[in-house]
Amino acid sequence: MPKTPAAKESASEAAGPSSDSAAPDGLEFIKRASLEGAKAPEKLDATLSQELAGGYARPACDAELDGKDPDATDNANYFCEYAYLYHQMDMLEDSHRTGSYYTAIVSNPSCFEGKVVLDVGAGTCVLAIFAAQAGAKQVFAVEATDMAQRGKRIVEANGLGDKIRVIQGTMETVELPCKVDIIVSEWMGYLLLRESMLDSVLLARDRWLKPGGAMFPSHASLFLAPIAGGQSKAFKQKFEQWQGEEQHWSTFEGDMSQWYDIDFSCVKEEFGVEQKKYYLQTGSFVNLNQKQLLGPGKALMELDLLTVRIDDLQYPSEPSNCTLRVVRDGAIEGFCGYFDTYFRGSTENPAEQEVVLSTAPTNGPSTHWGQQAFGFFPPLNARRGDALECSVLITRQKLNPRLLALETVFVLSRQVDGKRTVLDERKEQYFVD
Ligand code: SAH
Repeated sequence: MPKTPAAKESASEAAGPSSDSAAPDGLEFIKRASLEGAKAPEKLDATLSQELAGGYARPACDAELDGKDPDATDNANYFCEYAYLYHQMDMLEDSHRTGSYYTAIVSNPSCFEGKVVLDVGAGTCVLAIFAAQAGAKQVFAVEATDMAQRGKRIVEANGLGDKIRVIQGTMETVELPCKVDIIVSEWMGYLLLRESMLDSVLLARDRWLKPGGAMFPSHASLFLAPIAGGQSKAFKQKFEQWQGEEQHWSTFEGDMSQWYDIDFSCVKEEFGVEQKKYYLQTGSFVNLNQKQLLGPGKALMELDLLTVRIDDLQYPSEPSNCTLRVVRDGAIEGFCGYFDTYFRGSTENPAEQEVVLSTAPTNGPSTHWGQQAFGFFPPLNARRGDALECSVLITRQKLNPRLLALETVFVLSRQVDGKRTVLDERKEQYFVD
């Protein structure tokens, strides 16, 4: 799935979101969002004044099955973006994403023919339509935002109104008339888990999937890979900008004292923490190619969507681990995280043609997820053959549990005279905002 404006930055150049060339893309996205917001498309004319007066009642999507709207905080933090067509279009136009779902569903008619399917987070109902095209008997398309209203019209305009029931409401509050054979959903966020939408898919699985039913996708893996130094000035620039903020603070403190006779020094430390988080600890959107890596990606986490538990995601008891191998001499400037999802069906209902949706660094077309890049400040000096052990505990941010916080430990080691020698060790907290 998706992105939100704050996290989207361009990155044609290596690990490059902090580079100047990267900024306009991200800013452009934010500008568009607020512009759309100002227009309040579609609802503006008839209902906005009612809504402002607290009296907006949207038409029912499915009078019998509709659930509840998201709560106000979750709507502001997360859902509101999805009510805009431009955002849904952005995802639909990611042909690697949408094409992978299309192939996974339509090339596996034996999984879908005559089946009851649930589309969790249907948006424009595209996956529900794919399922109907693949021969599903009945599809429930659940969407929390007003996009459900458009989804319903799209379904009807495509002659599928008799097969697909579009239901508006959060998955958590919807009651279906029966259990389902298959759940399709596009729930993935940056670093796989950002947005925490997987919780809603797992909740749907636990409540509505028949025993032996299948998840589409069925598996997901989160990978880490070492980013080679010298590929980009981006991390160096971030470091310099962060250093520049120290001078900024001194000037600010001096000015406040001189102009208004107020002493701000008691919050200087907090400013440092805030700026360090922003410049050095927050992941950036990048689109890397294989050459920009110092070694291959390794799976940090592998999820079987039929068995993973919500609790394991919400309250992980242990960090996940992997060891990255360095295959060339050079500095490791940072690491990137990305994911693959796999469409294998289930044991009882296996896919004839397994499809993999990969967001790995590539020389080919990229996806709208790109990769998330995190820096080492300063970089690690590595040689071919070195090992970088990674330990990462992925938790959720307290103020917004749709965002991630990573507690990490990295240990760089080398075999010297047959003995493993630790060369460097880094303990750091990173964020995916
Ligand atoms: N399936 C569509 C849209 C994917 S984006 C496609 O593949 O193009 C994810 C969608 O899920 C968004 O439209 C969002 O509003 C919806 N969504 C996320 N969590 C949800 C929940 N708990 N209940 C209902 N809809 C949800």
